[in-house]
Amino acid sequence: MAIEKRQILDMNAFDRRRQDSAVADQVTRRLSNLGATSVLFYQDPIEMVSGDGAWMTSQDGTRYLDFYNNVLSVGHCHPTVVEAISRQTALLTINTRYLNRVVDDYLDALKSKLPSSLSNIALTCSGSEANDLAMRVACSVSGNQGFIVTENAYHGNTRTVTEISPSALKRHPLPDHVVTVPAPGRVNFGDDPADGMAQAVDQAARLLKQRGYGLAAFICDSVFSSDGVFAHPAGLLTKAVECVHRHGGLYIADEVQPGFARTGGGFWGFEHHLATPDMITMGKPMGNGYPIAGLATRPEYFERFCDDVGYFNTFGGNPVAAAAGHAVLDIIEQEGLQKNAKDRGQYLAQKLGALADISSCISEVRSIGLFIGVEISKDKHIDIPDPQLASAIIAGLRHQNVLIGAAGKFGNVLKIRPPLCTDQAEADFFINALTTVLGNQ
Ligand code: PMP
Repeated sequence: MAIEKRQILDMNAFDRRRQDSAVADQVTRRLSNLGATSVLFYQDPIEMVSGDGAWMTSQDGTRYLDFYNNVLSVGHCHPTVVEAISRQTALLTINTRYLNRVVDDYLDALKSKLPSSLSNIALTCSGSEANDLAMRVACSVSGNQGFIVTENAYHGNTRTVTEISPSALKRHPLPDHVVTVPAPGRVNFGDDPADGMAQAVDQAARLLKQRGYGLAAFICDSVFSSDGVFAHPAGLLTKAVECVHRHGGLYIADEVQPGFARTGGGFWGFEHHLATPDMITMGKPMGNGYPIAGLATRPEYFERFCDDVGYFNTFGGNPVAAAAGHAVLDIIEQEGLQKNAKDRGQYLAQKLGALADISSCISEVRSIGLFIGVEISKDKHIDIPDPQLASAIIAGLRHQNVLIGAAGKFGNVLKIRPPLCTDQAEADFFINALTTVLGNQ
């Protein structure tokens, strides 16, 4: 039986059409307010009321270890972020058309983390806006209209960005100016994913040329998270990016998920690919929950774009957002969170590898720092995904007070993203819970 492809927002999601829906008052109220745009985790959704560190507490007082977390990356309600936001909110909140040194102090600090060539940053409120702007700049700079993305990519929710997000499209095919390449796993490319990616990108670029669009950009999430978490080997994208440039396009690194030290070895996921992006987009963990995102690129690219059209963002990069963002950078540095992501990530990968050896369903563990994908397959055959079992494991973990998510074309990859501050006891709590859940299957 063919296994169905699944949209990223449908994974581990509450389905109101199911007979067993636990439609409690709160769920009914939510659905009556948000209607069909409501996306909730779990068939039995959880009402959360507070958070601290790696934990969240629900209405009934249950504490959950948040290993799905990649927004509250330095820990829920980190006091330094709370203090920075409160202080700046009490002092001044304005639109972005005034000079304000809180904003420039932040941008200087953020730029110290970026390749020196990408010395201009446009701040936005969401990753979607950052990617939308990146796409428009890429078209303007390259003079082309075509985009290459991975098969199950998600890059956001504006109209332009939805068109390059195959994992968000339910009915309609991708538009003609978008061509996909497979995710760089061994199922698709065998032992040399770097070469496989370069060849796939080359073919896609040729197709875009034939269709009359040319190549504006290859955009990819640096850990290919919605495709199922793929980051290895080092240098995975070097040849693919050379190919993109040969075809006159730009390389956009979408760091919305992996950025800000999560991958441990570097501050950004792309560093592992040994290719410098022409543009970097970022978001989610940037303000530890305060909405802030951005696009970094070369000054001449923004100049070219702004010759054609003005760009202004009322809330993007306001002083409160900048204060939150600056606090996040300081915390990562002061608490050694990049090193923690590396060390704790290695520990979890080693423990998960040992679990895989004795399990009958884990066909592969893929990880970089605290970004982990665990492939769940029938009888460990990596080419026979088992999304039902993956869903059962995610639901089982929830009953062991651990929150994780799903990814991959078929939704059979456990997506595990502990906060960067995860300590040893929390890592062990997760491994023990997963061991119990696997034992119950
Ligand atoms: N890019 C990637 C890789 C994402 O995962 C997301 C959000 N899931 C976005 C962009 C869009 O970010 P936002 O939801 O902040 O608009």
